[in-house]
Amino acid sequence: MAKRDYYEVLEVHKNASETEIKKAYRKLALKCHPDKNPGDKQSEDRFKELSEAYTVLSDGQKRALYDQYGHAGVDQQGGGFSSGGFGSAPFEDIFGDIFGGGSRRGGGRRGDDLRYNLTISFEEAAFGLETKIQVPRHQPCETCKGSGAKPGTHAETCRTCSGNGQVRFQQGFFSMTRTCPDCNGEGKKISEPCKDCRGSGLTRGQKTLSLKIPAGVESGIRLKMNGEGDPGSKGGPPGDLYVVITVKDHPIFQREGNELICEIPISFPQASLGCELEVPTLEGKVKLKVPAGTQSGKIFKLSGKGIPVLQGYGRGDELVVVRVETPTSLTTRQKELLSEFAKEAGEDIHPMGKGFIDKVKELFG
Ligand SMILES: [Zn+2]
Ligand SMILES: [Zn+2]
Repeated sequence: MAKRDYYEVLEVHKNASETEIKKAYRKLALKCHPDKNPGDKQSEDRFKELSEAYTVLSDGQKRALYDQYGHAGVDQQGGGFSSGGFGSAPFEDIFGDIFGGGSRRGGGRRGDDLRYNLTISFEEAAFGLETKIQVPRHQPCETCKGSGAKPGTHAETCRTCSGNGQVRFQQGFFSMTRTCPDCNGEGKKISEPCKDCRGSGLTRGQKTLSLKIPAGVESGIRLKMNGEGDPGSKGGPPGDLYVVITVKDHPIFQREGNELICEIPISFPQASLGCELEVPTLEGKVKLKVPAGTQSGKIFKLSGKGIPVLQGYGRGDELVVVRVETPTSLTTRQKELLSEFAKEAGEDIHPMGKGFIDKVKELFG
């Protein structure tokens, strides 16, 4: 029998790229895969032909030889393919990701991990919170108790794989195993599926979970709840639930690690003469003495009034930053008083300003 041209076999152009060749092979090989056409000699031959063509064209060196010498060029490589023993590498390579690697043997599938987004207030993040959340997730079907089989019937051992979940097949000289295509590796088959879950054993539902959020969490923290994800199907273990925290901004406070930052505007007279302020903390107001002559930007520390350390001991501090406000929309009288004040003051009472003027003098003489 005269061999067909490999490019023709794969239905690609002579200058097809590696990816195009791989894609073409996948498409065609899946169609005539022996598992899909049991006992069909024609598909089997076609499958072998495809595999042979792919083995050559996917290998740069062999492809070059084939392009130059045709079949004669590659048939000399290791005795050609007459035996059909073209090796398992391209096969596993190509189908490994389609058939799931074949590592599942019996048993069910692990449930999916789930993500639940939870937004909490600034204070809740600081002090922790116990709450209940409603998580949409799959649940074992009540009608069939999760088996997937219609009530009164049972799943039967898969005849194709005798319950192993894997099938053995011959490819040339090679004997290979892979996930049973009949039961998808579960080893069991349901002949009469449950109507409520269509045989999956799972239905959509909601689960209420109690959740304890520790003090000191920040936005972006993920709390893992083991085994609270989707249940596994047919005896597989459940997935995990990840609660992802978002903390709302606070109108007054900002957070820097465990430190709480609060900016407080004060007036020019308050800063100059000193005053007593009422400062907000997470637990109500406290009094803070601002000494006379306080500059804008000065930071006062309130020890232990910050955010508790996450899963640790102690708390950060609250930092109160005072901002001296320049008065605007002055009345005529206020302007007069300020002008008088300026005349009276001269340069003497502005320590920073005087220092600056001196520096400018030094610089420009
Ligand atoms: Zn069911
Ligand atoms: Zn099976």
